[in-house]
Amino acid sequence: MATKVEDVHIIWIVEGLGCEGDTIAVTAATQPSIEDVVLGAIPGLPRVHIHNKCIAYEWGKDFMDWWYKAERGELDPFVLVFEGSVPNEKIKSEGYWAALGVDATTGQPIPVSDWIDRLAPKALAVVAIGTCATYGGIHAMQGNPTGAMGVADYLGWDWKSRAGIPIVNVPGCPVQPDNFMETLLYLLYQVAGMAPMIPLDEEGRPTWLFGKTVHEGCDRGSYYEQGMFASEYGSPQCLVKLGCWGPVVNCNVPKRGWMAGIGGCPNVGGICIGCTMPGFPDKFMPFMDEPPGAKLSTSVVSIWGGALRGLRKITNDTVNKEPSWRHKGRQLTTGYPP
Ligand code: SF4
Ligand code: SF4
Ligand code: SF4
Repeated sequence: MATKVEDVHIIWIVEGLGCEGDTIAVTAATQPSIEDVVLGAIPGLPRVHIHNKCIAYEWGKDFMDWWYKAERGELDPFVLVFEGSVPNEKIKSEGYWAALGVDATTGQPIPVSDWIDRLAPKALAVVAIGTCATYGGIHAMQGNPTGAMGVADYLGWDWKSRAGIPIVNVPGCPVQPDNFMETLLYLLYQVAGMAPMIPLDEEGRPTWLFGKTVHEGCDRGSYYEQGMFASEYGSPQCLVKLGCWGPVVNCNVPKRGWMAGIGGCPNVGGICIGCTMPGFPDKFMPFMDEPPGAKLSTSVVSIWGGALRGLRKITNDTVNKEPSWRHKGRQLTTGYPP
């Protein structure tokens, strides 16, 4: 990993079962932006070439050539980014669920799962972007006909790249743009021999991005603590009774914001529906219902939160008044005695 690397390619498959929302989200990244990375604005990085159909100049065969080069081992090193969930192509007798490019020998579309088989063994790292690619997401809901799954479900959770890097999961529906670009930047520094092994948690997420809950970074946390819960939208109070799952969801969006530090679901009035989580969406449904554990926790919090509010009101009234020694006249009622 410490050898000098001058060029790194990012082969970004957008054609999993998804909506391309992660690609579109990442075009809004600022820390760093795609432009910063590909135009060489960041010191120490190799030259970076991103191949993603939404931002590519090439099209048709010229675009697909990068994939075939990667398959033939002519792009070295490259990072494989996968977006959308991976359908199970083995559960039907004909057709395909999701494909990219055409097989020159058979003339048939190449399923995206075949592309994972072809490219993952040659990639320096495999990054799953968005909740569909990380854990299956919306398309992997109970009752779906495609057998959709995340990349780690497909390759195996113990899978490691030839550089010894486990699958890197950056979930979110869509991904928070800077979370993805920061992860990519970390891996590029790792490729350049300037960073140690990327720290990941058991679900393959970068620990520094997903180590805290939504609740721990939420602007409304003080309302929760004081037992003040909104009963309708438009209130600045805590949204847990309206269906917010923030206390048990790993996500830094309330701290980081969505774009350029602005936004962040509950901060701006939206309940957290747990879109970054491996259990999303099934375990969070029906959306907008009070989470099962919230009844007990809010009842407890309401009791001591009410008492706390009362005590704080007394202190607040006290500190809202000037100290008694500030007055006119010849008598000094503070300071050293004359
Ligand atoms: Fe779209 Fe969400 Fe899936 Fe990304 S994770 S492809 S934004 S549905
Ligand atoms: Fe926690 Fe959600 Fe309430 Fe914010 S709105 S304090 S995340 S429960
Ligand atoms: Fe998803 Fe909740 Fe994070 Fe919003 S706060 S991005 S809904 S996990």
